[in-house]
Amino acid sequence: MKCRECVEQLYPYLDKELTPPVETEVRAHLEHCHPCHDQFEFEALFLRFLHARTRAQGAPPELKEKIVRELLEE
Ligand SMILES: [Zn+2]
Repeated sequence: MKCRECVEQLYPYLDKELTPPVETEVRAHLEHCHPCHDQFEFEALFLRFLHARTRAQGAPPELKEKIVRELLEE
């Protein structure tokens, strides 16, 4: 798996939406790729923060998706 492919799986991976074989590939990549590992760590932290915030504000899921989509487009 290349870094670009790995990063494309970032959100599905964090949301646990990947199929087991793909998840295994992502995890294997993260184990030996520090840049991707760091990025995943950062996004995981950020997502946790986002989830906590949107839950606290009672934001609808569509809003959360919109925020995530905008982040991915940057
Ligand atoms: Zn990588």
